[in-house]
Amino acid sequence: MRYVILADIHGNYEALIAVLRDIEAFVSEQRTTIDQIWCLGDIVGYGPQPSECVRTVSELCAIVIAGNHDWAAIGKLDLDEFTGVAANSAEWTGEQLTPKERIYLRQLPERERSGDVTLAHGSPLNPIWEYLTSPVGATPNFSAFGTTFCLVGHTHVPSIFLMPADAPLPPSAPLTPRALTAGGINPGDSDLMVFPDLPELAPLATGPLCEQITPTQALWVLPERHRVIINPGSVGQPRDGDPRAAYLIYDTDVGFEFRRVEYNIAATQRRMAELGLSPRMAARLTHGV
Ligand code: ZN
Repeated sequence: MRYVILADIHGNYEALIAVLRDIEAFVSEQRTTIDQIWCLGDIVGYGPQPSECVRTVSELCAIVIAGNHDWAAIGKLDLDEFTGVAANSAEWTGEQLTPKERIYLRQLPERERSGDVTLAHGSPLNPIWEYLTSPVGATPNFSAFGTTFCLVGHTHVPSIFLMPADAPLPPSAPLTPRALTAGGINPGDSDLMVFPDLPELAPLATGPLCEQITPTQALWVLPERHRVIINPGSVGQPRDGDPRAAYLIYDTDVGFEFRRVEYNIAATQRRMAELGLSPRMAARLTHGV
């Protein structure tokens, strides 16, 4: 089976279209087929074309997970948990969506499972909010899913967290807000969340930590007797220093192919300027940060 994994489109329809064209090219070059497209959430937020992105994802994707920005835009998350530019963007995005699109975002699940794969936006422990940026933060999450593979988005950075299948795992407990930050707030989103009163630090991993790998080669294959959490990177707002749209092709017979696609960044930035959206969010698209 062959799956396409999209995450963090963020209303950037130019980037989404470029990715879909790249998938078409892949299919015809490889003389192959794609069985399903999955989306790990944050279809909207920051970008200028939320409706187009929701419509396209709802038509094309077999599994779609809720992201924090999807639920913020429709008022399912309290905007007090966002600050500044993220809250303004959520309000603007909500105003653009049709009633049908709002209902679609509202009913999205926080987690899904398909065969041997678990899907969540942030993490399996805290699907909406947790950023997996380090082995310390990622390790307790291996107790929170029962499959070999887990796919997450949210950090906008392509990442792999690898754990031996027989590693002793800490019991999985719900995380406090403080614990969510212990693995490191995503620097690119440092303005996104505020934790007004931080409770005590929750216990984190005490045993061996998982290994963090930054995917550098296109194809990555899971070593035998391991489990893995994989982040494909972001379609519409990459934050790993590479401005090209990121996505993943998961071929169950071959492995995980991390792909990057150039898109018309200037066109997205022009739309954002015309609509009066955040100049800072537009500018960072140039650098992928
Ligand atoms: Zn996001």
